[in-house]
Amino acid sequence: MNKLFTSMCLFFSFLVSAQEFEDILFNNYEKYKVSGFSQRRTAAQLVYAELQRQNKNVFKVKPVTTSIEGKPIYLVSAGRGETTVLLWSQMHGNESTATRALIDVFEFLQQDDELNAFRKTLLSSLNLHFIPLLNPDGGEKWQRRNRLGVDINRDALRLQSPESQILKKVRDSLQAEFGYNLHDQSRYYNAEFTSKPATISFLATAYNEEKSINENRSKSMQLVLSMNKVLQKFTPGHVGRYSDDFEPRAFGDNIQLWGTSLVLIESGGYFKDREKEFIRKLNFVIILSSLHEIATKKYAQNDIDDYEKIPRNDRKMFDLKVFNLNYPLLDKKYLVDMGINQNEVEDSSENGFSYSGALVDFGDLSTYYGYESFDAEGYTYLSPKTYRGSLKEISEWDLLKQGYAFKTYPHIEGNYTFKNVILNRIKAGKGYSDATKKVNFFLKKDDVIKFAVINGFLIDIEKQELPQGFNPKIE
Ligand SMILES: [Zn+2]
Repeated sequence: MNKLFTSMCLFFSFLVSAQEFEDILFNNYEKYKVSGFSQRRTAAQLVYAELQRQNKNVFKVKPVTTSIEGKPIYLVSAGRGETTVLLWSQMHGNESTATRALIDVFEFLQQDDELNAFRKTLLSSLNLHFIPLLNPDGGEKWQRRNRLGVDINRDALRLQSPESQILKKVRDSLQAEFGYNLHDQSRYYNAEFTSKPATISFLATAYNEEKSINENRSKSMQLVLSMNKVLQKFTPGHVGRYSDDFEPRAFGDNIQLWGTSLVLIESGGYFKDREKEFIRKLNFVIILSSLHEIATKKYAQNDIDDYEKIPRNDRKMFDLKVFNLNYPLLDKKYLVDMGINQNEVEDSSENGFSYSGALVDFGDLSTYYGYESFDAEGYTYLSPKTYRGSLKEISEWDLLKQGYAFKTYPHIEGNYTFKNVILNRIKAGKGYSDATKKVNFFLKKDDVIKFAVINGFLIDIEKQELPQGFNPKIE
């Protein structure tokens, strides 16, 4: 029995060591992914409830202050090692990707399975502290700033907000050796000179105008390089390097100055991942694998000269790029490209928002990229029409084929809801704005309407398939 047990243990440890830690995390993520956090708009109450559920043998969870509105801000601590690491997330209320990943990290740290050797390394070498939700007021309202209207990341010197005060106080009392400053960035960033969204961007934050590199900042760079290596395995080319211009009022810059080796991790965009579930998984993998690098001091093997080789962040993405399009105007045709974004507009729907298309740029966009790109060579632009008849005789797909992008509805008092509609709805007697018209049009080839762009989403009319996330505009 004992012999069998020993050989089984050996077998498992062989299995584990045959793969890198990051591969195991990536491949087994579902095991640690906590349910209930699949949407970016995550209520503070949900995070609080999750924190109360943590295993008290592993974690110490304590409220350390309250937000301006009186919501608790928690510090979660684990481990008994010598190297202190402080991680904080959602300083900006509408940036929750890393918060959701930290919930998964907590789950990983308290499970009991064949990865116990890794877990033991982390918890015996590191003294971990997390502030998973630094700006709960902003989180609740889904806004960047706190209840006072202040950007906490510009309050590191003046310290007017309780959220800023507690971050400084915790940092100072711990004198953490490493700091993780966890944010979300625009999904329209790409890795410079490539069509790939900067799904994760890093910054080894500068601590002065000269962007000097001291020992602290070197360690930040080395840690970034460890995480970059991991990401290049799973999402090659999707990593960007954030600008290191010094911002004297920001936390990252000051915490680096105060002596903590700081890394900024920015979660950007990825294909078909508007709720950032895949990016949450990447956060889970790089946070845990980099903590393991700190615990084993492997990060120190990285050459800081490689840091500058990570492509810079650029902002050249659109949600939809339509290019090489024939655009008629006053009896002439012009060659144009269109850059369209699908912006989120808050509303009272189930998701809390719906999309609203916007034409962002028009002309030669050959240096830009799209999450979706459509080569419209041979296609001609066609303006949309408004349908005022009944839908009893004709389907919305047939209306699209005839060039209708709008359908009127009568004025009715109270809530008027639409389900499963394709054409934009406008109230009878009302027109649509020029801005709306610009993201609703058709693509015609050989006198046949083949594609529709409705509210900024490209629809293949023949396939009769609506794109992911599609909603028409209700005006
Ligand atoms: Zn941010």
